[in-house]
Amino acid sequence: MATIKPIEGRSVHQIQSGQVIVDLNSVCKELVENSLDAGATSVEVRFKNNGLDAIEIQDNGSGIAPEDYDTIALKHYTSKLSTYDDLSSLNTFGFRGEALSSLCALSKFHIITARASDGAKGTKLEFEQSGKLKSTSVVAAKQGTTVVVESLFHNLPVRRKELEKSIKREYNKVLQLLHAYACISVGVKFSVSSQMPKGKKTVAFSTNTNPNTKENIANVYGAKTLLALVPLNLKFELAPSNRSSATQILQSQTTQGSSGSRTVQIVGHISRPVVGEGRQTPDRQMFFVNSRPCALPQVAKAFNEVYRTYNVTQSAFIFADIKLDTNAYDVNVSPDKRTIMLHDQTALLESLKEALADLFDHHDQSVPQSQLM
Ligand code: ADP
Ligand code: MG
Repeated sequence: MATIKPIEGRSVHQIQSGQVIVDLNSVCKELVENSLDAGATSVEVRFKNNGLDAIEIQDNGSGIAPEDYDTIALKHYTSKLSTYDDLSSLNTFGFRGEALSSLCALSKFHIITARASDGAKGTKLEFEQSGKLKSTSVVAAKQGTTVVVESLFHNLPVRRKELEKSIKREYNKVLQLLHAYACISVGVKFSVSSQMPKGKKTVAFSTNTNPNTKENIANVYGAKTLLALVPLNLKFELAPSNRSSATQILQSQTTQGSSGSRTVQIVGHISRPVVGEGRQTPDRQMFFVNSRPCALPQVAKAFNEVYRTYNVTQSAFIFADIKLDTNAYDVNVSPDKRTIMLHDQTALLESLKEALADLFDHHDQSVPQSQLM
């Protein structure tokens, strides 16, 4: 008798969902990204009991069309990508249609949504664990979408216990992530608040509808922060990496043109390379690829190494957005999409270090950010 058999569908869904939504961070990341993809200019994040009881994200984006109610929370249903090839020209955060379906499997979840044409009427959508639409009802609502996630991991006892134990740390980590989205999102007003049981509602931070990242940073971290920063604007040609020549030839034929080089631009803001202008802890370092917040440990290491040669005692504030061709990196590396694979990373790091040292050597010529305000 065969001992190998397929896992039952519901369990597969739960197993996979647990890889997409791994912690509080992934919930907020996925939902904020959905709001931004929907063209929102206002994103409000509300935590109840640090997110343990509920996370609510309200936006004023496009809203959801009634014809999508049935499929919106089904696995791999998305409005953003239809074939694998679309990945190389992606300009949305989402593309796999997994977040809402995973949240259905791992939390008590509902959506309230209204489109511009709906007047003051919205629709509340409730779902089964599988992501199938369970019920709809009419409620009062402004244009946009509110997603409510209650009792995260209520059906994964080990993960729920872990979340309860580490919730304070998780909440602080989420705030850092939301800082990054709020700082990079020009023209989007963010508001993040927290309500403890029987406690008052407190605003963690908020931004205005600012025209640039500098004002976003001032809103999030305080205007004083800008005094210690210089503009980051590095531009360099990527030298061919030291891979085998066969790989290089192939690359130059496919993505890089005949010269084998590619222009990289890194824009943002960084601490002045002088003692007293850095920070005690490296907790304010944000990295983006084409405005997508992501973890880039090797890039962070390169920045820190160079900064340390100018300021041994402190860490830099870093806000760095790497502008790359969409076919020069891969976002489809890990289920939570935080990891990005950069092609030619070794060459990029070498050129980055040189360009950064050059910027720091000439930093006195940079106009202090405070004077740009
Ligand atoms: P993905 O973002 O990869 O498409 P999701 O599961 O996060 O997958 O979302 C599924 C679909 O639901 C999206 O493609 C989008 O059409 C719709 N959607 C999700 N959140 C919102 C929102 N806040 N406003 C409007 N539409 C949304
Ligand atoms: Mg999404």
